[in-house]
Amino acid sequence: MASQDLFQSPDYYLLDELLTEEHKLIRESVRQWVKASVSPIIEDYCQRAEFPTQLLSGLADAGCFGPFIPQEYGGAGLDYIAYGLMMQELERGDSGIRSTASVQGSLVMFPIFTFGSEEQKKKYLPKLATGELMGCFGLTEPGHGSDPGGMVTHFEDKGSYVLLNGAKMWISNAPFADIAVVWAKDEESRIRGLIVERGMEGFSTPETKGKWSLRASATGELVFDHVKVPKENILPGLEGLKGPLSCLDSARYGIAWGTIGAAMDCYDTALRYAKERVQFDKPIASFQLQQKKLAEMITEITKAQLLNWRLGVLKNEGRASPAQVSMAKRNACFTAVNIAREARQILGGMGITGEYPVMRHMMNLESVITYEGTHDIHLLITGQDITGLSAFK
Ligand SMILES: Cc1cc2nc3c(=O)[nH]c(=O)nc-3n(C[C@H](O)[C@H](O)[C@H](O)COP(=O)(O)OP(=O)(O)OC[C@H]3O[C@@H](n4cnc5c(N)ncnc54)[C@H](O)[C@@H]3O)c2cc1C
Repeated sequence: MASQDLFQSPDYYLLDELLTEEHKLIRESVRQWVKASVSPIIEDYCQRAEFPTQLLSGLADAGCFGPFIPQEYGGAGLDYIAYGLMMQELERGDSGIRSTASVQGSLVMFPIFTFGSEEQKKKYLPKLATGELMGCFGLTEPGHGSDPGGMVTHFEDKGSYVLLNGAKMWISNAPFADIAVVWAKDEESRIRGLIVERGMEGFSTPETKGKWSLRASATGELVFDHVKVPKENILPGLEGLKGPLSCLDSARYGIAWGTIGAAMDCYDTALRYAKERVQFDKPIASFQLQQKKLAEMITEITKAQLLNWRLGVLKNEGRASPAQVSMAKRNACFTAVNIAREARQILGGMGITGEYPVMRHMMNLESVITYEGTHDIHLLITGQDITGLSAFK
């Protein structure tokens, strides 16, 4: 059983002064929701490898589903700093809970809003914002992860509908999603986005079992066996890989903030523990080796907070490049997973138990550093951006 959530947010460089009152209110309301609704139950669900579906309505009420979507489609019309702060607070609770919100907002609502027809926007977005409908995003395939352009899932034109065949794997929210935004190739090998609804014949979503990471998040496959998808379910506004990549850009931005939330929780837990735990008649926080760990943690957290904040400003101005988002995602995940590992050591044996959130964060972050572009792939994106030369192939 997890101990009480005593989280206190580190703000070493007084970054709150860069936020508006609205930003701080939004952050506080999500933080309080996480303390009241997520922290008391998350360890138990994680241990049982179950997604706490009862949290979906709370996530929707807290405005965490597509907060940047305009109000006329059910969103809150908030800016990207507000979105980032929400993701930070959710992942401070658990990466799986943040993943659910990221997928719903950035990977399902974003493409429907950006590339969908007016009818599709009106039909799906308001219900996705309230959680009445839940969505998932199908890009990765068994044979194509880092290289999604090679996908083999495809569809044929049959007049009023298309016939979809193929399979996606590692899909967050798949086991309970009502709709899936699926990326597949048409007869000319052009990548298109389709909205596939649960209940369509030949569409199934088997759950992926046996994960040691993101255990409180539901992951599954999407299997399409001659699924008849009405043509009005094809997103009209795009062709090619830039469609799914633009969705990932939005989600990766949220991950950059989110993982630093998890890092802040690990640091806060380790600092409190180090001040209370006595060995050799002294708090372990008084030993230089432990101070080194803690001092490096807060330094890296502060650097990442600044990077995220600046990226948010650029995003609000429409000036953030995908490569800048890649740098922030990579930096934040790497920072967070290292901080989680160091915090685990500071807690000694207690660090491996569910009484503290550290080991859960550490294992979750092993997924987050891999999904939405691996650590290596984001480095290659930076390399290509600064040299003009691709090292992908
Ligand atoms: C828990 C979880 C949830 C996920 N949720 C979703 C989801 O909702 N939707 C979705 O579509 N996908 C999802 N994914 C999939 C995720 O995005 C992929 O796992 C990720 O893109 C990496 O693909 P891969 O696992 O096939 O690894 P691979 O692409 O096989 O990579 C294996 C290794 O090779 C390296 N590598 C690959 N290419 C190169 C290269 N050119 N140069 C150097 N190194 C290279 C990689 O960095 C990595 O270290 C999820 C994954 C996980 C684990």
